[in-house]
Amino acid sequence: MKTKVLLVEDNQQNAYLINYLLEALGLVVVTVANGREALERVRLESPDLIITDIQLPELDGYELGLALKADPELRTIPLIAATSYAMPGDRQKALAIGFDAYFEKPIDPEDFTNSIRSFIRERDLHCDESSGS
Ligand code: MN
Repeated sequence: MKTKVLLVEDNQQNAYLINYLLEALGLVVVTVANGREALERVRLESPDLIITDIQLPELDGYELGLALKADPELRTIPLIAATSYAMPGDRQKALAIGFDAYFEKPIDPEDFTNSIRSFIRERDLHCDESSGS
């Protein structure tokens, strides 16, 4: 079974880049554009991992994180924040909510690929070991 990622990103260029990098790792990616859509899709899709932007319309990444971590069925899904415009304290806020990791944008393709691969290994999930460096 391929590892499935729910990607929550409203910026099309970021969504395209992250999709490309995740698919190169052999992952299946489902992309939604805001936190509300993520909450609507998460039970249907049963992702192995959620990667979310923080600044999102309708329901932002922090609100999404709070909702996921308050739900006994959803709180165990590994949750990664990937955000630009990081302010001092954003990382702490994300980790306090229960995010499992926090990546800052702009995304460096090689760093991002290596970080995701390490994260997936730690969680005993599967990806394509040969892609990237
Ligand atoms: Mn955004």
